[in-house]
Amino acid sequence: MISFAFTSEQEDFRRELRRFATSELSPRYAGRAARAEFAWDAHRQLADLGVLGIGLPEKYGGTGEPDPITLGIATEALAYGDVNVAAAPVQVGLVAAQLAARGSEAVAGRYVPALIRGEIVAAIAVTEPSAGSDASSLTAVARRGDGGWRLSGEKIAITHATSAAIALVYARDPGSAGAAGISCFLVPLDAAGVTRGAMPGMGALPLCWGSLSFDDVFVPADHLVGGEGRGFGGAMHHFDFSRPALGLLCLGAAQASIDEAVAWAQQREAFGRPIAAFQGVSFPLAEQATFLEAARWLCYRALWLRATGLPHTDLAAMCKWWPPQVAKDAIETAWVTHGNLGYSTELPLQQRYRDVASYLVADGTAAIQKRIIATHMLGRVAAQ
Ligand SMILES: Cc1cc2nc3c(=O)[nH]c(=O)nc-3n(C[C@H](O)[C@H](O)[C@H](O)COP(=O)(O)OP(=O)(O)OC[C@H]3O[C@@H](n4cnc5c(N)ncnc54)[C@H](O)[C@@H]3O)c2cc1C
Repeated sequence: MISFAFTSEQEDFRRELRRFATSELSPRYAGRAARAEFAWDAHRQLADLGVLGIGLPEKYGGTGEPDPITLGIATEALAYGDVNVAAAPVQVGLVAAQLAARGSEAVAGRYVPALIRGEIVAAIAVTEPSAGSDASSLTAVARRGDGGWRLSGEKIAITHATSAAIALVYARDPGSAGAAGISCFLVPLDAAGVTRGAMPGMGALPLCWGSLSFDDVFVPADHLVGGEGRGFGGAMHHFDFSRPALGLLCLGAAQASIDEAVAWAQQREAFGRPIAAFQGVSFPLAEQATFLEAARWLCYRALWLRATGLPHTDLAAMCKWWPPQVAKDAIETAWVTHGNLGYSTELPLQQRYRDVASYLVADGTAAIQKRIIATHMLGRVAAQ
């Protein structure tokens, strides 16, 4: 039996980030969450704390070897204070890791240090108006031209669409079908032919969600990330990291909500006693604490499998459907525990509920995650 404990360095880092989340992020969470503006100040604080370089090459300013567990720890701890700010390390990790591993030296050397220093953010553009869950049917095209490619197509529902300096854009060879023929390109979003649009959602506003349109955009040859026609497989490999990390993101926000509900239940009185004395109040909290604990270790086990190089696609999919659902249910229990106050905008609970709800869809819905798990269990017959 191995230990479930983090290393002492990881535990120290977790404590430091939790303190930062509680004292610095939490007090301004609601204000930031109300605006569709990227929180640059908080993001640069993350850079100063070393969060944006976790697991990225030292030559670009990162910590060195891939370290998915520490990145998961950071994400969970930061989400305790602000679930939107805490999404940044996952997104930076996803993009910068791809650029460092599969990008040209010119592109990685230019953009990865800027991502680690918190000077820019990057988008990942897969989803299109007619291709979401079935991402392999995307229709954006990249035609070979003089010195590179010409890229055309429309992407929607993209995190950082209005705040990013660069995007990883997935587009196919004209005439190709399915996953084969999809390549990944690094596109500077100030290139001629790029148009951005905002798509305000019911939460997660600081993630600057929106559309990206590419009209015959020139992409230099060295901006191809990974081999030609290998973009789809590359994206799937990175989703196997982001899914447990996003699970932990949701769980961090849910833990903050349950801790607030526990404190409230001990001070609020009804029928002459603290409401915590009623099992109708304490048992739902106990149930949610159980689910949070189970979901949390599911995520860390998936990250541990990734860190040790063992297969984890099915566990990663489990982490993306169940923990966000568990987190949403826990936050609901927390706001109901607060009565009318819990529903009001005076408390952050309704905001967390809406922010966490974005992860019921972002990075693939529960149905798509279950399809991945079922395919692993049953083979291709389940992939309908
Ligand atoms: C907050 C947020 C952030 C996002 N950020 C990004 C981003 O940065 N980059 C990016 O590329 N995309 C992003 N997305 C898009 C997201 O990945 C897609 O919305 C998601 O994959 C679902 O695709 P869709 O919206 O087209 O829904 P559809 O694919 O149309 O699905 C609609 C419904 O049908 C169900 N369904 C579809 N196929 C099946 C099936 N085979 N079996 C059972 N049910 C099925 C789905 O589960 C869903 O409930 C984001 C979305 C959100 C909400």
